This record gives sequence, structure tokens and C-alpha cells, in this order.
Amino acid sequence: MTVDDDAGVSRAVARDLRRRYGGTHRIVRADSGDQALDALREMKLRGEQVAVLLADYRMPRMSGLEFLESAMDLYPAARRVLLTAYADTSAAIDAINVVDLDYYLLKPWDPPEEKLYPVIDAQLDAWASTDHRVVPETKLVGHRWSARSSQVREFLARNQVPYRWYSAESPEGRRLLEAAGADGRDLPLVVSPDGTATTAPTDGQLAAQVGLATVPAGDFYDLVVVGGGPAGLGAAVYGASEGLRTVLVERTATGGQAGQSSRIENYLGFPDGVSGAQLTDRARRQAVKFGAELIMTREAVGLEVNGSARTVRFADGDAVDAHTVILATGVSYRQLMAPGVERLTGLGVYYGSALTEVANCAGRDVYIVGGANSAGQAAIHLAREARSVTLVVRGDSLQRSMSYYLVQQLAQQDRINVRTCTEIVEAHGADHLERLSLRDNATGQAQDVDADYLFVFIGAAPRTEWLDGVVTRDQRGFVVAGPDLAAGGERAPGWILDRAPFHLETSVPGVFAAGDVRAESAKRVASAVGEGALAVMLVHRYLEGL
Ligand SMILES: Cc1cc2nc3c(=O)[nH]c(=O)nc-3n(C[C@H](O)[C@H](O)[C@H](O)COP(=O)(O)OP(=O)(O)OC[C@H]3O[C@@H](n4cnc5c(N)ncnc54)[C@H](O)[C@@H]3O)c2cc1C
Repeated sequence: MTVDDDAGVSRAVARDLRRRYGGTHRIVRADSGDQALDALREMKLRGEQVAVLLADYRMPRMSGLEFLESAMDLYPAARRVLLTAYADTSAAIDAINVVDLDYYLLKPWDPPEEKLYPVIDAQLDAWASTDHRVVPETKLVGHRWSARSSQVREFLARNQVPYRWYSAESPEGRRLLEAAGADGRDLPLVVSPDGTATTAPTDGQLAAQVGLATVPAGDFYDLVVVGGGPAGLGAAVYGASEGLRTVLVERTATGGQAGQSSRIENYLGFPDGVSGAQLTDRARRQAVKFGAELIMTREAVGLEVNGSARTVRFADGDAVDAHTVILATGVSYRQLMAPGVERLTGLGVYYGSALTEVANCAGRDVYIVGGANSAGQAAIHLAREARSVTLVVRGDSLQRSMSYYLVQQLAQQDRINVRTCTEIVEAHGADHLERLSLRDNATGQAQDVDADYLFVFIGAAPRTEWLDGVVTRDQRGFVVAGPDLAAGGERAPGWILDRAPFHLETSVPGVFAAGDVRAESAKRVASAVGEGALAVMLVHRYLEGL
């Protein structure tokens, strides 16, 4: 980059630089320090690198030295060269100390082969020997202990958006904040590869910024799938591949619970196990390949019957219409009710395995609460990084709640301790988790332990309140479907058709339930995928009868 307020000089420098370096470098020209700094900020946000800054010493408003000093905040590794007249030589020499100047170049620089290129060659060589790899992916600047920062990290990771994380206190984090004109109070800052920067975005803004669709493209579909876990993705793949106009709406990220699993070992066809992220990525690509539309960050909050149309309504009042709906909303983690837990959620306390936190657990003491398979898997996964992993289980043994193979694996790990008959009664910490109070249920004895992380896996419940009064649910909120609707041989309440409900059909004709959200479902990845596929077959049968 070359900066000179004299347009003639500026053009001449740029012309000479282009002649020699134009094939390998972009030469950026600016007429003032302000203009040059604006250009540098944009380049910073786009993740571009700057090798050499060449500034004229005498410029009105902002001198070359002032410019170079400010530019250092953005690009400390860029080589700094001052262009001076002979009379200003002593000022230039002083500047070597002030702005850590790498070179001063006297005007005129003719012939460039002798006076300009050798200088720039040396600067480029020096620059090339330092590490300054381009960061093409999304950049995220935030605070280590901030609930929103960790939510955004989790959101990007679960949506398979590659990103690089910078602490707001790190030098590069500070540079990015400066380039975006952010004061650091509203975090996180998200910078996409094209340089677009937003502070503290909502999930919807974030999705749009990283290129995830958030609005259905069509007016009317054959099939709306609500929920993007294994059941929903299965339904989307089969629906779209069989020619149905299919849209899937998901409130956070595809993958559902399975997407958060570090290793699924019992899914058919993966003898060495598969991570939830890999399985989700493949399923997602498969659904898109067949033409399914995937809409992210939209939470269904209402279901209406409008003649033969079924309307799924979103929180902002928007809606999408279709002939049929598959409810595949699965289950959500149950909250751990103990003082301090809610306040410290995202600040050391996490629901599910929070895969983005795993690397931070290196050398730390980690607690996991829960006695089912998901807790066991997480313990094995976290023990690879953590100093110790303690599994806190309310029951008196793991055998009843966890698969045999996992209990065996836990027993073989030195770093994993299992504390049965134990409950977490309080979480402590000022701005992040520091301690847990445990109670031994057998003896009633209380104990405080140091803890950096707590991962909660204490079961899950369907969040189906939004279907209240429309679709029949059981006492725990699971959606009742098919033969279960007519328990005891009675006709299902509210069912108006002559035929009986199809196998996965709910009390509303044309609305189906698949996966964990369905009452009596198997709560497995394979059965969820299978139900997604079966529901699509029943959708065809329903459509034939329309
Ligand atoms: C950590 C962990 C490990 C597991 N390991 C295994 C294993 O090894 N093997 C195995 O077989 N099973 C495993 N399971 C269980 C398995 O993951 C589930 O049975 C399976 O994911 C259920 O799929 P689903 O599509 O029915 O629901 P979910 O996976 O729960 O997906 C539901 C989706 O719907 C979305 N959603 C919910 N409500 C709405 C709404 N109103 N609007 C829009 N979207 C909504 C959610 O955000 C979610 O993405 C594991 C579960 C966990 C948590």
C-alpha cells in the first residue's frame, strides 16, 4: 500500500510498484492517511494480508508517521517504509525508533531498478519469513467466559461453518475490533470472509451472515418437516428424493441430539462409530442434493389446519403452508434445578456435550451429571483432554441406566471417576464455574469440590407446548400417533375421517410424528431415521387420498 497526498507522486509510485510486483501482489493506492486506514480496516476484516506500507512523510492532516503508527495497530507485521525528501532525513531517522520504521526512502527514487526495487524486495523477503497465514474463514471475537460467545461458537460449529476464535483480549482480537470500529462492549464480533462484521448478532442474523437460508423460497409445499435431527433429515432426504416439494425448518442447527454426540457406535453401517457432526454433514448434503430446502433459525410456534392446507407458524408471525407436516422435534435437555446453575450456564455449565468446549477442558477438572449413555459417551470423549472427569450419578449403579459396553469402557479409564448416589446441590463461581456442592444421598454428607466445567445430561423432555389443543399428546408431552391414538379400540378423539390414522399419523390428518417426539418411540438414531423414511411413505398415501 502506498499513501501520498500528491496525486502525481502517488500514481508514479503505484505505477512503478505495479510494473515489478503487480503479478504477485495487489498494489493499493491512497491519497490520505484516513483513506488508507479505511482501506486497511476493510482488508483486515476480509482476512487479507498487507506486506509493505509505503507512506509519504509530509502529508496534511495525518503525517506519514502518524499513519504508520495507526496502521501498526491493524497490521503489526507489515513492513513500514517512509518516503521522504532529502531535507527530512533527520526526522525520518528519528522515526525509526518512534514507529519502528523498517526503511526510509529518499525521493526521487529513479531509476526504480536501483533505488526502489532493491528496498521493496528486501522488505518483501523479510515479511515473507514471518508467519502471517491468511484466515479465509469466519472470524469470531469474544470473551472466554461469555454465555453468548459460547452459544455463537456452538451455533457455527453445529452448522458446520468453519470459523476461527479470537479472545477479545488477544492482540489479533483487538485488531479485529479496531478494524470493525467495535468498542468491545457488544460482543461477540462476527466477521465473515467477505469482511462483513456484526456485533452481538441474533441467531437469525448470524445464519443470514454465514449464508444459511432463513426464509422459505416457495409459497406452498407438499411437505413441511419441523426439526432437523435424524428423523427430520431422514424425512427430508426421502421426501425430496421421491419428488415431494420439501422444506425442513429447524430452530438452531441440523443434527439435533445426534449432532451433539461425540461418537455414535451403534448406527448401522459404521463399525468404527461415527461422530454426530459427520453424520449430520452427510445427511444435510444428501437432503440438499435431492432438492430439499433447509431453513435455519426458525422455531415453529403454531400449527393450524386451513382446509386441506396445514400451516406451520413461526415466532415472528411468518408461516409456511403445505399439504402435509412431519413433526420431528425430538426432545430437549431437562434443566438441572440447583442454585447457581442457571446463572452459570454457558460460563462453565453446559447442556449436552458442547463440543466446542472440549479443547478448553485440557488439563481441567470436569464434572458430568447423568447416568445414561449420552453422559457415558461424553465422559470418554472429555477424558482425552481433561485432567479428571467425574461422573455424578443419582442412582446407586450405572448398570441399569447405561449400555454394558460403555460401562466397561468407563471402568478402563484411569481419569474417569464415577460417584454414584450423588447429587449436585449448588454451583458456585463469580463470573464462571469454580466449585460444586455435592451431596451423598446415602449418608446425607455434603462436600464442596473444585470444578471448571459441568456438563449436564439428565434426560430430556419434548417441547411440544406449541401443539397444545391441536395435536393429541400424552401426559409427558410426547405426540401420540397411529394405533396409539385409538388405545382400547376407541376412535381417536377429534378424528374425523372414516379410515383409521396411518401408522405415524397424529390426531390431525396429514400431520405425522417421527423420531423421539413420538410417544413410545425407541429414542435411537436408527429408529428416528427409519421413522422419517416411513412417515414419507405415509405422506404419499395421504396425498393419494386428497
Ligand atoms: C449426547 C447424545 C448421544 C447419543 N448417542 C446415541 C447413540 O450412540 N446411538 C443412538 O442410537 N442414539 C443416541 N442418542 C439418541 C439420538 O441422538 C436420538 O434418539 C435422535 O437424535 C432422535 O432424533 P430426532 O430427529 O427424533 O430428534 P432430535 O435429535 O432431538 O432432533 C430434533 C430437532 O428438532 C429441532 N426442533 C425442536 N423443536 C423445534 C421447533 N419448534 N421448531 C423447529 N425446530 C425444532 C431441534 O432443534 C432439533 O434439532 C444420543 C443422544 C445424545 C443427546
